Amino acid sequence: MDPKFQRMVLSDGHFIPVLGFGTYAPEQVPKSKAMEATKIAIDAGFRHIDSAYFYKNEKEVGLAIRSKIADGTVKREDIFYTSKLWCTFHRPELVRPSLEDSLKKLQLDYVDLYIIHFPTALKPGTEIFPTDEHGKTVFDTVDICATWEAMEKCKEAGLAKSIGVSNFNRRQLEMILNKPGLKYKPVCNQVECHPYLNQGKLLEFCKSKGIVLVAYSALGSHREPEWVDQSAPVLLEDPLIGALAKKHQQTPALIALRYQLQRGVVVLAKSFTEKRIKENIQVFEFQLPSEDMKVIDGLNRNFRYVTADFAIGHPNYPFSDEY
Ligand code: NAP
Repeated sequence: MDPKFQRMVLSDGHFIPVLGFGTYAPEQVPKSKAMEATKIAIDAGFRHIDSAYFYKNEKEVGLAIRSKIADGTVKREDIFYTSKLWCTFHRPELVRPSLEDSLKKLQLDYVDLYIIHFPTALKPGTEIFPTDEHGKTVFDTVDICATWEAMEKCKEAGLAKSIGVSNFNRRQLEMILNKPGLKYKPVCNQVECHPYLNQGKLLEFCKSKGIVLVAYSALGSHREPEWVDQSAPVLLEDPLIGALAKKHQQTPALIALRYQLQRGVVVLAKSFTEKRIKENIQVFEFQLPSEDMKVIDGLNRNFRYVTADFAIGHPNYPFSDEY
């Protein structure tokens, strides 16, 4: 098999391509860009596409996937598509309708993976970030295990082949894993992960439970001012990563992506730039020796780009625990 189609088995027996294409872009970027970039990504060899209700681009990403099926580049079963349940839909009765809404926008019959985007529930309604008269986010109280049971029903209905979570800490993963009557474990936990936040402990825990860790912001994040402190260090300008790139005649981005694959992490890479999309798939063309992996491990400083301040103060805010 072509190395760029490399996959990892999930605990429910389905397979996930180890390199995924990220589609999140700031609000001001036209959604048509997500469509163009997704088509380029599929042409380049990406088979795993990551999106979400929250990204407001599922119509365009669905169009891109369907056009690549229509022109014969891929079959539906070649594509692994992930969508995410947004925080305003955590109440169990809202879970399936939310997935059905995504499917309608996508014009697909199923998603390959449906994940709880973030463990904090927000007040249900049409606003992504419901706020009170003081501009403060309005939280909701929903038992995360009840949300999970509704996710299990989506899998049983065939609307999602696999189900998982995102931005969960160890304690929250354990809550689900220890839930009485659990039918399906989360197949993955999609979290921020890169050399400055390498998630070593969470990765070890996930591996011990058969949960695949999926890395987002693996290139140092989109650095959108609304989400990321602009004084945060620029990962791809790190001198050590730069030196390794030079040594291996690769780019810093490829070093950051390759690092994840070699530690058993599924990695997402977002780019809406054709040249970089084609560059990122070259991650399968080289290897890092163990001494260089250790050098990258040494860069860890538990530095988080995306602190998700909207959820601070919620009892399920995940980033206060050590991991
Ligand atoms: P990322 O993958 O860390 O990096 C994106 C940035 O790197 C973009 O600015 C991109 O620019 C640039 N880039 C891409 N390839 C490059 C290369 N070869 N050389 C230099 N620069 C390069 O971005 P992210 O959006 O933070 O994370 C990736 C994906 O993870 C998202 O798109 C989304 O699907 C997912 N995600 C999930 C969550 C969650 O809560 N579950 C949170 C954040 C992200 P250009 O586009 O201009 O090329």
